[in-house]
Amino acid sequence: MSADPRMPVVFFGHGSPTNVLEDNVSTQAWARIAQNVGKPKAILSITAHWCTNGTAITAMDNPRTIHDFGRSLPAEMFDLQYPAPGSPALVERISNVLAPMPVQRDQSWGLDHGTWAILYKAYPQADIPVVQLSMDASKPTSWHFDVGRRLRLLRDEGVLIMGSGNIVHSLEMMDWDPRSKPYDWAIRFNDLVKDAIVRNDPQSLFDFQALGQDAVLSIQGPEHYWPLFYVLGARHDDDRVMFDPDFIQYKSLSMVSVTLDSRPPA
Ligand code: ZN
Repeated sequence: MSADPRMPVVFFGHGSPTNVLEDNVSTQAWARIAQNVGKPKAILSITAHWCTNGTAITAMDNPRTIHDFGRSLPAEMFDLQYPAPGSPALVERISNVLAPMPVQRDQSWGLDHGTWAILYKAYPQADIPVVQLSMDASKPTSWHFDVGRRLRLLRDEGVLIMGSGNIVHSLEMMDWDPRSKPYDWAIRFNDLVKDAIVRNDPQSLFDFQALGQDAVLSIQGPEHYWPLFYVLGARHDDDRVMFDPDFIQYKSLSMVSVTLDSRPPA
């Protein structure tokens, strides 16, 4: 039995990669979340930007920083590095926890912007080992939740499990004017998901295509939705729920982050 206090589990709404160049309400919240969480022994990240056929895990000693965004973004973004080490020990542990499910040990991926653009602000020293687990794109939402449930015990071993995506992510409908008001359907779907989280009813969110037009407009491809379900899978019933930050940007991009924490309030 480990004496480690149980780690919180966090879903980060990552939004635009350019947040990493800014000091704004989102990045300030990410730093605040990290301050509340404290320093984990290692971080396991599941991001919207690594979907594979089957499940893979970054197994290298020093994962590279992947600049997986368009060339139209500022040149300085391509110079940013997040040189956190990997963790062969955590890779081994996760492989054992998920067995007999096959987990391919990957040597070619690294840390994509779903992971490093958050951690750059949350844990700027880049001294905590980070491992990424991919999402099997062929599986339904319930399957991703179940994997999160199996990973939950890592919270008692000092590991921070983080998901990185966006509850409402509709690139086609975005309006980059920072003063723009969110669409009504984006507000409704964002609230519906938050309400289900508060009620601890993740099952009601699994079949998002059955949730109507608001959901269809909000989820353009499930890859930004699924990381939330690893986090909800890793939930314990006595976790408190915190939404911070808690707003919709560019009309159809939810920046909501969710922290689930069973430790007594500070
Ligand atoms: Zn993204």
